[in-house]
Amino acid sequence: MRILVIEDEKKVASFIRKGLSEEMYAVDVAYDGAEGLSMALETQYDAIILDVMLPKKDGMTVVRELRGSGCSSPVLMLTARASTQDRVQGLDYGADDYLTKPFHFEELAARVRSLLRRTSSEKSTVLSCGELALDTVTHRASRLGKEFDLTTKEYSLLEYLMRNKGRVLSRSLIQQHVWSYSFDTESNIIDVYVKRLRNKIGDEGAARMIRSVRGVGYIMREPDLNSDEGEEDDE
Ligand code: CA
Repeated sequence: MRILVIEDEKKVASFIRKGLSEEMYAVDVAYDGAEGLSMALETQYDAIILDVMLPKKDGMTVVRELRGSGCSSPVLMLTARASTQDRVQGLDYGADDYLTKPFHFEELAARVRSLLRRTSSEKSTVLSCGELALDTVTHRASRLGKEFDLTTKEYSLLEYLMRNKGRVLSRSLIQQHVWSYSFDTESNIIDVYVKRLRNKIGDEGAARMIRSVRGVGYIMREPDLNSDEGEEDDE
């Protein structure tokens, strides 16, 4: 999942970026409101962390303009001021939650998970598909109790596929939600990662859960053990 952090204080921004990266998210940072707004309108972020006091455009204006432009990414506002008026205004302008500075990273991480659950049909912190389980708190992936050691990107890809179970996802959509701006476009990188992921989780045969959709991308779906339609993959 990909998150945008709009925060002008370099130290705070890097603290959040580092923490979220360790939580397996792809993270982009904008250091002022105008840049943040344009990035948020350009990419479909899974969540946006937005500071209130920002140069060029304050957080209140950013969230109002985002909602006015039809952006529906969940927004968590950071406010240094513990004033009720600020929090009320932020929520009324379209923010989904707020956190008062200073905060503990654990709380920020929990609130981000909560925001991601709101937009996902999956309301549990443990995502599942067939016998596969992905714990979004501990970042453990397992199948019938057997754990897999996933890299950050493999985890991120699996989380995105599982959160969107049953939906056809194009390669560009997957790229947008799993890789950050620093990603250099290699045309087959997604296919390479999907292949690695399938190998690790033992996803093969007719009951394969991550299916290729020819000319489009991938879909993750519950394994159909009675299916005899065979492999639709073009590999
Ligand atoms: Ca600030």
